[in-house]
Amino acid sequence: MDKKIKILIVDDDESVKSMYSEIFKREGFEVEEAADGLDGLDKAVKNPPSVIFTGIIMPRMDGFGLKQELAKNVVTADIPVVMNSHMGRREDLERANELGMSDFIVLGMNTPRQVVDRIKALFEREEYDVQIDPKELDAHKIARDLNFNPQFECPKCGRPMVLHMQLVDVPAKEFRAIFSCTNCG
Ligand SMILES: [Zn+2]
Repeated sequence: MDKKIKILIVDDDESVKSMYSEIFKREGFEVEEAADGLDGLDKAVKNPPSVIFTGIIMPRMDGFGLKQELAKNVVTADIPVVMNSHMGRREDLERANELGMSDFIVLGMNTPRQVVDRIKALFEREEYDVQIDPKELDAHKIARDLNFNPQFECPKCGRPMVLHMQLVDVPAKEFRAIFSCTNCG
């Protein structure tokens, strides 16, 4: 990790919070703690973390309420939120997905090592270069709309252009993509 990932751990369960605080610090994360959803929201707005790791049931504001409030504020709307669950209830998982949680981790079914890896994975996006077949499907339309030559050759060096794709949401198989030349960039 070149830059420290800052994680905000939100939980009213002191044992979970102190254990994960230790683990993430040991893994090179910068760690901040919050006592419940409302405290977490306050800390996230004042000093936005790279990621939030939150429990579900907490006094004053639960993990779902926290995610909903974060989504309303431009400063915090894009912060990935990972929810942890002790019971792994199906309705909690479904609600977490509906609200756009980045991950839902059942603590008893994952070792702390696996929890750390899943959170790190949010910051290690996979990237791919794929080549377009100029004869297939909408290739011709893409070339026309983007003013490329119909063979998808780089205007500078004549080598094939590729679609450089970055995986941004693993469960949804969602990509961000840009055309580039493997030679000129
Ligand atoms: Zn080129």
